[in-house]
Amino acid sequence: MSKMKLGFLVFCAAVVALTVVATAATPDLSGDIVYSAADGSNMAGTRCATFDDPAVQAERAPADLDRWIEEHYGKALNITVPVAVHSIYESQTNGYVTDQMVNDQIQVLNDAYAGTGISFYLYHFARYQSSRYFSWDMQTREEKAVKQYLAIDPAHVLNIYLQNPTGGILGWAYFPWMAPEDHWGHGLVILWSTLPGGPAAPYNEGDTITHEAGHYFGLYHTFQNGCWGAGDQVDDTPYELWPAYGCPQGRDTCGSPGVDPIHNFMDYTDDSCMFEFTPGQSARMDWAVTTYRPSLGGTPVKALAVADKSAEDFDLAIDRILASEPEVSDRGLMPAVAELADISPNPFNPMTTVAFVLPQAGHVQVAVYDLAGRRVRTLVDGSREAGRHEVTLDGSGLASGIYMVRMVSEGVDVSKRITLLK
Ligand SMILES: [Zn+2]
Repeated sequence: MSKMKLGFLVFCAAVVALTVVATAATPDLSGDIVYSAADGSNMAGTRCATFDDPAVQAERAPADLDRWIEEHYGKALNITVPVAVHSIYESQTNGYVTDQMVNDQIQVLNDAYAGTGISFYLYHFARYQSSRYFSWDMQTREEKAVKQYLAIDPAHVLNIYLQNPTGGILGWAYFPWMAPEDHWGHGLVILWSTLPGGPAAPYNEGDTITHEAGHYFGLYHTFQNGCWGAGDQVDDTPYELWPAYGCPQGRDTCGSPGVDPIHNFMDYTDDSCMFEFTPGQSARMDWAVTTYRPSLGGTPVKALAVADKSAEDFDLAIDRILASEPEVSDRGLMPAVAELADISPNPFNPMTTVAFVLPQAGHVQVAVYDLAGRRVRTLVDGSREAGRHEVTLDGSGLASGIYMVRMVSEGVDVSKRITLLK
């Protein structure tokens, strides 16, 4: 690809032994968006919680994609993907999606992916009434239990789980290289109210599923890596420094050619603003699906055994799986080691949310350093449970500039660059 590595400024965390700052209490969760809740009130949330696993970075090198496209030139992808929709709802007024909403969602997907070689049809749809498992976060035992119970033939079928994610997250997915294609963990977890006609304005035209499916097919955000390096590993999406919200026409955050791709499904703009994938993204999905999801779109091999699962048994079934530790001991899509996940927004002013994922409970320290190696904030210093966590960074007292967020936990020491723009 032409987006060559420009040579990242590698930050050496040569941190002088400093007096440990007193443990900061974990601030309230906060996200990067506001949308309408089911009752009409404003809800703070997170646009997308999908994260990548650096442990498999070598497997998706752009050089591999270049070679692949050369070898497959002219052999366009052409698959029809069966979609299984598992709707978990609390009541008729909270979480309930109509048949019409689900059918409209499939149409939204088909319109969005027209020209990519990927089309969709509704293969299975079932609802489960549950107050107990209506809301859960990613990388939790609840996620594993629900998916283990409901997933239908993940190698051939796109599974979509509709619920009410904690923290107001609109959705998440897992990249195709993160687990074998038949792993139960694959699929999309989506805020139910983002379906077409749902209440989650301005994210209620169905493009959250379009976006998360893009991750499922191997696409990164258009602002991946900002203005630098390999960007999103696609040649025809201009560089973009940070996510776009709303619909900022003509925004141009990088010096390189082209304005920001705010109309792209892999940005963070409002549903009404996003309407395109590029040929480069189409080629990348072709590569990722052929490489990592070769069975997708074929005939499902497992019959609809799950269709027999009744809503009445749902809570009991999940209870039973959760009570039976070995059934959820599969590490699944949990990273092997502690990981800094998304930091959003970035750049930020003055607040941003830092997410991290722990494969097991343990001590973790997350702190912010300036480029001189001085610790300027301690966000976490203590024990945390396994799973995904979020902390808020308030940069009010800090000067504009580049900082590093560093996480140290159980032998892992990783850093990510953040930019404070005032
Ligand atoms: Zn995303």
